[in-house]
Amino acid sequence: MAGFESLDPVSGAVVGRHPDHAADAVRDAVGQAEEAGRWWAGLAPAERRRRLLDYKAVLARHLRDLADLVRQETGKPTGDATLEIVLAITHLDWAARNAHKVLGRRRVNTGMIGLNLTATLEYLPLGVVAVIGPWNYPVFTPMGSISYALAAGNAVVFKPSELTPGIGVRLAELFRESVPEQPVFQTVTGLGGTGAALAADPRVGKVAFTGSTATAKRVMAACAANLTPIVAECGGKDAFIVDADADLAKAADACLWGAMSNAGQTCAGVERVYVVEAVYESFMRELSTRVTKVKAGQDYGPITMPGQLDIIKRHIDDATKSGKIVTGGTDSVHPPYVDPVIIEDVHEDSPAVREETFGPTITVRRTRDAQEALELANASAYGLGGTVFSRDTRRATELARMMRTGMTAINSVISFAGIPALPFGGVGDSGFGRIHGADGLREFARAKAISRQRFALPGMNLTSFSRGPGELERLIKLVTFLHGRRKR
Ligand code: NDP
Repeated sequence: MAGFESLDPVSGAVVGRHPDHAADAVRDAVGQAEEAGRWWAGLAPAERRRRLLDYKAVLARHLRDLADLVRQETGKPTGDATLEIVLAITHLDWAARNAHKVLGRRRVNTGMIGLNLTATLEYLPLGVVAVIGPWNYPVFTPMGSISYALAAGNAVVFKPSELTPGIGVRLAELFRESVPEQPVFQTVTGLGGTGAALAADPRVGKVAFTGSTATAKRVMAACAANLTPIVAECGGKDAFIVDADADLAKAADACLWGAMSNAGQTCAGVERVYVVEAVYESFMRELSTRVTKVKAGQDYGPITMPGQLDIIKRHIDDATKSGKIVTGGTDSVHPPYVDPVIIEDVHEDSPAVREETFGPTITVRRTRDAQEALELANASAYGLGGTVFSRDTRRATELARMMRTGMTAINSVISFAGIPALPFGGVGDSGFGRIHGADGLREFARAKAISRQRFALPGMNLTSFSRGPGELERLIKLVTFLHGRRKR
C-alpha cells in the first residue's frame, strides 16, 4: 500500500509515515464499521455511556502525549494543543452523559384527534458515520462530530487531514482500550482521494465534513449520488463588533487572541473588526500597544499548510492597496511563520475582507454606530461565529441575535465553542447542520415516530373505507370547536 509522511511544519522533520488507503481499504473499513455499528447500537445506553466515559478518562490520562503529537504535526504551542484536547474531553463527557436523555424514547402528546392513540418518539443511530476532518484543530474539530456520533450509537470511520494523520490514528487506537470488542471507531489515513472514497460509499449513513467550503461542495456532490446526508462545518470570516460603551482593554485583548491565536487558523477566528467611531482611536491604541507583545513562533505557531502562505500574502498585498497598515505588512510573511498584521480602512470588496484569510491578520474599520457595524458584519457570504463587545447586555444580546451567524460571543471571544450544551455550526458558505449539544446528538440520529391505537373511537373510524358521512360531520364539528375560534 502506498504511504505518505506527516511532517513537523517548523522543522520539516518526519513525524510519521501512514498508509494512503485506497478505495478498497475504505470499503473494508466501512464494511467492518457496519457490523460494529450494529453491535454498538445493540448495547444498553448505560453501557455505551460507561464505555465513552472510560474513553474520556483514557484521553485525559494521555493528555500530555496527545498534545505533544498535535504540536509536532501542526507546529502549534503545546499549551494550545492541550487546550483543544481539554475542550474535546469536555464535549465527549457531555455527549456521553446526555445522549440517552436527548435521544431516548419518550411519549409525546397525541392531541384531541388522536385521543385513542399513544405516541412515542426516539432518535435511532444512522449506522456508519464518516467523519472527514481538517488539520487546524485535529482533535477538537473532528471529536466534535466523533463524540456525538458515537454517543448517538453510531460506528465512526474517520479520515483525518493528510497533514495530521498521526493524531487521528492515535484517537482511534486509544478508543480500543475502552471498546476492544469491535472496530466501532476506525481511522483511515490518506490524501483527498481517501476522503472522496469514504463520502461516496453508499453504506455511510451520514458524512460529517469539516474543512473548506470548496471541498464541502465536492463532498456534497459525491454524497448526492447516494442521497447521503451531510453536515458541513466550513470556513468563516467572523466579525468582531466594538460598541461605544465596550470595555476597550478587554475588547482589544480578546480581539487579538481571537485573531492571532493558532496563527489565525481558526474557523471561528476573528478576521474583520468593526469599531464604533466614538471609541475607534482609543480602541486602536489598546490594540496596537498589545500587538507588539504577540510574537509568531512564541505565542502561536507556524502556518501549518504551506499553500496557505500565498493566500495570506495575496490578502495582505491587496488590503494595503486601499487600506493603511497599523502593524506588519507583506514582510510579516516569513515561512513558515506570519507575524501579526493589522490593516485599517480596507475596502470592503477586498479579498482580505471577503475571503477567508486563515492567518494572523485582521482588517479594522470605523463605523457610525453599532447598527452599521452589524450591517457590514452581515454583508458576508460566510456566517459561522462572531463577537460583540458592549457593557449594555440588552443591546449586546440584540446585536448578537441579529448577527447572521450560528454563534455569537458577547464580551468574550469564541466562548460558545467550549460550552458543550451549545450547538456549533454556520449558515451560508460556513455550512449547515450542527455539531455539539442536543442538536449535535440529533444530527447523528434519525427520528423514529411510533403511534399505537389503544382503542377504536366509536363512530370516528376515519381511516377506513367504511367511514360514513356522519363521521365526517362529527370531525368537522370537532375541528371547528377546537380550531375555528379566533384567538384574541
Ligand atoms: P480542506 O477542505 O482542504 O480539507 C478538509 C478535509 O477534506 C481533509 O481531511 C481533506 O483531506 C479532505 N478532502 C479533500 N478533498 C476531498 C474530497 N474530494 N472528498 C473528501 N474529502 C476530501 O480543509 P483544510 O483541512 O485545509 O481545513 C481548513 C478549513 O477548515 C478552513 O476553511 C476552516 O475554516 C475549516 N474549518 C471549519 C471548522 C468548523 O467547525 N466550521 C473547524 C475547523 C476548520 P486531505 O487533507 O488529505 O486533502
